[in-house]
Amino acid sequence: MVRTRFAPSPTGYLHLGGARTALFSWAFARRHKGTFILRVEDTDLERSTPENTQVILDAMAWLGLDYDEGPFYQMQRMDRYREVLKQLIEEGKAYYCYASKEELEAMREEQIARGEKPRYDRRWRDSRATPPAGVSPVVRFKNPLDGAVVIDDLVKGRIVVNNCELDDLIIARSDGTPTYNFCVVVDDWDMQITHVIRGDDHINNTPRQINILKALGAPLPQYAHLSMILGADGEKLSKRHASVSVLDYEKAGFLPEAMLNYLARLGWARGDEELFTMAQFVEWFDLAGVSKSAARFDAEKLAWVSAHHLKQADASRLAELSRPFMLRDGCDCSHGPDFAQVVELLRERVKTVEELADAAVYFYRPLDPETQVLEQHVTTDILPVMAELSDRFETIEWTREAIHEVMKSTVAAHGLKFPKVAMPLRVLVTGEPQTPAVDAVLALIGKQEVVARLRHQLA
Ligand code: GLU
Repeated sequence: MVRTRFAPSPTGYLHLGGARTALFSWAFARRHKGTFILRVEDTDLERSTPENTQVILDAMAWLGLDYDEGPFYQMQRMDRYREVLKQLIEEGKAYYCYASKEELEAMREEQIARGEKPRYDRRWRDSRATPPAGVSPVVRFKNPLDGAVVIDDLVKGRIVVNNCELDDLIIARSDGTPTYNFCVVVDDWDMQITHVIRGDDHINNTPRQINILKALGAPLPQYAHLSMILGADGEKLSKRHASVSVLDYEKAGFLPEAMLNYLARLGWARGDEELFTMAQFVEWFDLAGVSKSAARFDAEKLAWVSAHHLKQADASRLAELSRPFMLRDGCDCSHGPDFAQVVELLRERVKTVEELADAAVYFYRPLDPETQVLEQHVTTDILPVMAELSDRFETIEWTREAIHEVMKSTVAAHGLKFPKVAMPLRVLVTGEPQTPAVDAVLALIGKQEVVARLRHQLA
């Protein structure tokens, strides 16, 4: 039975890289009909505020990455960590270290002077010395002195780390609180994680964690370390390149399925598949398809993926999602044309819900054309034709076909070309020089409103 986890530290936002890690862990669990667990690593008390934690939960919810167990919080598991700590000390697999800061500093300097790599010299490992009075010790793990840790990473391949490279890691601070690597180990053990899928910034922790798991007699999970996401310039992705917070993309009007599709392709491939649903992704996802090398964030590609999903999405859902953006533009779309029909007209030409909402404004309220647009398209000679159109519109049954017929016969009667009439009509009614087919737009805006707008502009 596959059990995976996503273990974010609440820092105030869910980073794109974190979201991709969550997606891959989730998809792997779903693919294998396993269990996906959310574990909040909230031991950094300064950053781990309830608000910061909520941001992670919100981002997971927005993306639809549902978890079967959790959220678990490390701060609520302190007793358990202390229990395991005690066990390791009692079994002689961990020990108290009383070395003071000054002592360690002196040791370091000597090692450097001797040309050695500075590292804790294990002075308290097997010491029988009487502990100094008044010193609160740290607890260190007795890392094996020889042999090697072999990791068959499911993405990176075989990694071998000699134990002589690793020192005796601090697993509890002098105030008794367990350290990060220790909590992760106890959690992965207790939560029976079978596959640890995480960013490769943790790869140096893995051999240490494996040694502790072995000391506990715990089964070892398999590991899959995901490569970083870089900016277009090859630097680590940061705010300089793009929004790095997942929820910023919600605010910018991206659909979650587009975001997931795009994230899935950051470091994973299946042939040349670019556009897919999450159901397909779950069916296809395979760690063998995950790239060893770093992926690059490409805002243009995200926009392209987004446009695709916008074309697929249910129109009434898009209407719902557009509403807040419309309101922000001071536009209430609860009255006027059916928004779902507006969506159908506009969705081919927009990339985000925000663009959709912006493009929809003129359906609900008249926009004044820019002077330059007016001058270019609405010449004085055409004004009488517009007035005539407006009169004729009043008399017809309001369908797209009837509007088109009226336009066609007016064009013919005046010996004009179609755009010569369609452009000023579009500009006067919508305020915009670019819209979908003008007859379709007018049909949706409604007879009364179209005529009123024309009269107003011609007055
Ligand atoms: N809490 C760690 C992070 O946010 C992840 C630890 C892990 O996945 O093992 O980077």
